Amino acid sequence: MKTLKIAIQKSGRLNEKSVELLKNCGLNFENYKSSLISPVSNFPLEILFLRDDDIPEYVQDGIADLGIVGENVIQETEVEVNYLQRLGFGKCALKIAITNNSDITDLQHLNGKSIATTYPAILGKFLKENNIQSDIRNISGSVEIAPGLGLADAICDLVSTGGTLKSNGLKPFADVMSSEAVLIGRKGDEDNILIQELIQRIQSVLRAKETKYVVLNIHRDNLPKIMSLLPGVKSPTIVPLAEADWVAVHTVIPERDFWDRISSMKQAGAEGIVVMPIEKIIL
Ligand code: ATP
Ligand code: ZN
Repeated sequence: MKTLKIAIQKSGRLNEKSVELLKNCGLNFENYKSSLISPVSNFPLEILFLRDDDIPEYVQDGIADLGIVGENVIQETEVEVNYLQRLGFGKCALKIAITNNSDITDLQHLNGKSIATTYPAILGKFLKENNIQSDIRNISGSVEIAPGLGLADAICDLVSTGGTLKSNGLKPFADVMSSEAVLIGRKGDEDNILIQELIQRIQSVLRAKETKYVVLNIHRDNLPKIMSLLPGVKSPTIVPLAEADWVAVHTVIPERDFWDRISSMKQAGAEGIVVMPIEKIIL
């Protein structure tokens, strides 16, 4: 079968998490910073290390079969690709920001103003949808210094914590889009068995990340209470203990409301609670 190629970012914010995800899928490869291509020894796959901006087009054109890239980059390059899986990392938002002393208080105030950005396509679409005519200044980087230099009245840039905005005397003003890393594939490749296998591996890793394996001891009398705290788990494993009337309950609980559930379990009489990470969940 034809060897697949997956394009990931060579270096930058998405590199480490992309490599980690693929390794957690059981793929063996060397992560040399110097090489552009790394073969996977135990799956018919090659990893291409690229600049993130090139990934959507490479996938669209079939140079790579799959790619891991931020949604912001996909939308900006306006390519036709399939979104296969959201990956839960690289979360950020594309926002319009203004100077702290700006007199802009309403979106409509952006009419006639200039906005510096590296995302002219996404910003252009957003302004059009909101019926605003601004002068989009397409610059190639360091957007946040543009207002200070008198280059623009506002900026449109990626924000995660807001620290960079703050240190440049800017404040967020409007949300344009939110973004995270996604797995993309080429249109027409939907039936490829190797791609499906890889998607399944990725999903099993993501599912496992959202859950914890919990083992606890409880007196049989308190078992119904514990069971009622485990919605969604049809049948936890219940193992008798050497001590009469005590059992161990093995179950899987979501990471989301983990601490709430653990404290309710303690109140219900759970003892010796052991929590373990899960590597994979295969459905
Ligand atoms: P490259 O050299 O590959 O072109 P880059 O400088 O364009 O890299 P990075 O800054 O590494 O890109 O960001 C890659 C992606 O990480 C962004 O496109 C975005 O999806 C995501 N990201 C998450 N948080 C942030 C943030 N605070 N600022 C910028 N990007 C972020
Ligand atoms: Zn880039």
